Amino acid sequence: MANSQDLYTRRSNVVPNGVGSFVKTTAVEAKGARLTDADGKEFIDFGGGIGVLNSGHCPPKVVKAIQDQAAKLIHACFHISTYEIYIELCEKLVKLFPHGPKTKAMLTNTGAESVENAIKIARQATKRQAIICFSDAFHGRSMMGMTLTSKVTYKTNCGPFAPEVYRLEFPQLYRKPENLSEEEFCKQELQKLEKFVGTYVDVTSVAAIILELVQGEGGFHAAPKAYIKGLREFCTKNGIMLIFDEVQTGFGRTGKWGAYQHYDVLPDISTWAKSMGSGMPIGAVIGRQEVMDAAVAGTIGGTYLGNPVCCAAAIATIDFMEEEKLNDRANVIGTKIKERFKKMAEWADCIGDVRGLGAMIALEFVTDRKTKAPNADICDAVTTKCLEKGVILLKAGNGKNVIRILSPLTITDADVDKALNIIEESLKEVIKR
Ligand code: PMP
Repeated sequence: MANSQDLYTRRSNVVPNGVGSFVKTTAVEAKGARLTDADGKEFIDFGGGIGVLNSGHCPPKVVKAIQDQAAKLIHACFHISTYEIYIELCEKLVKLFPHGPKTKAMLTNTGAESVENAIKIARQATKRQAIICFSDAFHGRSMMGMTLTSKVTYKTNCGPFAPEVYRLEFPQLYRKPENLSEEEFCKQELQKLEKFVGTYVDVTSVAAIILELVQGEGGFHAAPKAYIKGLREFCTKNGIMLIFDEVQTGFGRTGKWGAYQHYDVLPDISTWAKSMGSGMPIGAVIGRQEVMDAAVAGTIGGTYLGNPVCCAAAIATIDFMEEEKLNDRANVIGTKIKERFKKMAEWADCIGDVRGLGAMIALEFVTDRKTKAPNADICDAVTTKCLEKGVILLKAGNGKNVIRILSPLTITDADVDKALNIIEESLKEVIKR
């Protein structure tokens, strides 16, 4: 069997460099929160395949559902033949995520596709074109997804981008002016929005505002509650669709099925993927019935959307999450990690902030706690050391200076402790250099 070095060599021969490799690991098999590489080395997975494995690697119930469905019906195309498992999954989704008195859902393959379709639906529902998005946002690598994405290094020479997309500053609490309270800051940011639509885009041409309630790739910044409440009022007043991108926050990650359930605010449309199918390519767009039904037949969909095997995986995943009470587990794990990171911040000046919602926890490194300038070097050194010692960690943030935790929620307490010990030990070694 090929070892890790063989795989890297063969990869570089046939796979283009643009398909980035962000963590130098290989994978042969995995179970729960443990992953084994091509050299037989075992890792604790604190990255979860970028937030896909809230139910852990290969949950037996999901594996069985995939196997059973594959033996029955792999593909029919939902535009050609209606099959029950697609409908059953949508019934589950609208029950978990009501967007008003009546909710509808369509299935997709990926997060980017969910975003793409959400924008098409919002435009058809409003008969308007402009979309407002945010700094540090990530919404996928399709053309519209990339246009909405903030990080310029993900967009090198890929333009021209989609027209009629406007960007606002995301209200990051960590970098708010010190003299403002959270309430005053939200008020100021909402005033900026009012001014923005009077200056950069006509409010009557805005179809939608799209945002992540906790920015994923942007570094796990949770939007302040008062801001989201204000955004909802602004959208309702102006006939604008409010879209929450829950691709990374969804399915238990924040301690609730969706991050929006922390906010007491309903979106008009929401987008989902990642942990919904435990690694099978499936996502969803969910929305108020009248909004979803505004899209004309033929304008949304695709050959594979809501593939039966992926639907089976998603249904089994949701059942498993319910049985294992993974939302509660997320809160337990998140509290444990946050407390430990806060203790580390008592002796490590390079830690600027510890934040997060549920089990979506971030550790931000800075060169100076006053200026809050990003410290990418320490972040890189710590994650590299942790990998050597057997913990997979992902980075985030425009400054590549944030460690973000997206471990399976099925992880044992012993593995959480072990991984945290390794992070602490690695940080101590890096600081001593
Ligand atoms: N939206 C958000 C918030 C995401 O985090 C991601 C993926 N990191 C996407 C959209 C795109 O999802 P996908 O990679 O499945 O297209």
